[in-house]
Amino acid sequence: SLRAGIVGLPNVGKSTLFNAVVENGKAQAANFPFCTIEPNVGIVAVPDPRLNVLSDLSKSQRAVPASIEFVDIAGLVKGASQGEGLGNKFLSHIREVDSILQVVRCFEDNDVIHVNGKVDPKSDIDVINLELVFSDLDQIEKRLDKLKKGKGKDSQSKLKEDAERSALERIKLALMDGKPARSVTLTDFEKEAVKHLCLLTMKPIIYVANVAESDVADPGTNPHVKEVMSLASELQSGLVTISAQVESELTELPSEERTEYLQSLGVSESGLGNLIRATYSLLGLRTYFTSGEKETKAWTILAGMTAPQAAGVIHSDFEKGFIRAETVAYDDFVVAGSLAAAREKGLLRSEGKDYIVQEGDVMLFRFNV
Ligand code: GDP
Repeated sequence: SLRAGIVGLPNVGKSTLFNAVVENGKAQAANFPFCTIEPNVGIVAVPDPRLNVLSDLSKSQRAVPASIEFVDIAGLVKGASQGEGLGNKFLSHIREVDSILQVVRCFEDNDVIHVNGKVDPKSDIDVINLELVFSDLDQIEKRLDKLKKGKGKDSQSKLKEDAERSALERIKLALMDGKPARSVTLTDFEKEAVKHLCLLTMKPIIYVANVAESDVADPGTNPHVKEVMSLASELQSGLVTISAQVESELTELPSEERTEYLQSLGVSESGLGNLIRATYSLLGLRTYFTSGEKETKAWTILAGMTAPQAAGVIHSDFEKGFIRAETVAYDDFVVAGSLAAAREKGLLRSEGKDYIVQEGDVMLFRFNV
């Protein structure tokens, strides 16, 4: 499944948030056939009300939500990109995630020491950005050196190397200006050519403004949050406000007391759902469903994926042996009441290998084994 790495300076609330995510995931773990959780990896279900509707209609034995893996990447501090051992190790963990969640401290608490002496989101964001930028610059320098030496053997690989070089030169200029690689406009071919470097500043980033309990109802009034908001839009990044403390306390309450607690804070739902949805939408992710008596399941794909690619998310054999997909839009399925009824009403379509899977499609794949 999709991996999101939680980063941030020390003492901003990363582990508090991560633990809340893990506890929440454990509560859902019964639904997961794969709940092996490493110490710093937590799996969390993507909340989706459509799942239970479909599951009820199909009388499924179980409903399996889509999931996101959260990885706690502690230890990113000033100087990490220069660090011999540890710093580099943290940066290499970040290379492996699909998106970055940077927790930014927006709560005041004199009992919790801030590494720079005061709550200052802009400085926190700059520090981390700079580490990511330095690390990418280092990667790019090395790669450009290598490209200078090695010559592509055939014209095909030469074409690719030229595209890579040109893209890297432009990214380098942006980085030297303190801007992330994702701010550089690249052609699809160039994107493909630089993909293998897993540049850190190419990954989508979401700023998670960690606020005090008293701010969850109206976080916009907190000046630190306002600052993060404007930085997020400047850096083409997402923003979610959450109170790690509140999320942590919620996991300790029996479920019947949670609503009451949330109401006392002036909100209607936990911030985790929001965080997960933001991660989802920022990455351009889509959901499709499979639904039958055995189970109803939500699957995560990238926007623009074709039917065979979507089938490949279930199993690579489904992609290789793809013949056709029978598909019905979620709303049509609900109106018809079942796959069979949808077929009778002509709402079930037969789609070929070029079909772009739409958000909420309910699908049945036909394939050769
Ligand atoms: P990390 O170093 O970024 O992983 O930070 P931790 O999650 O360990 O949090 C550091 C300290 O800040 C702990 O004592 C937390 O209880 C506290 N903390 C985390 N989030 C909040 C919050 O929203 N409000 C307050 N007052 N304290 C918090």
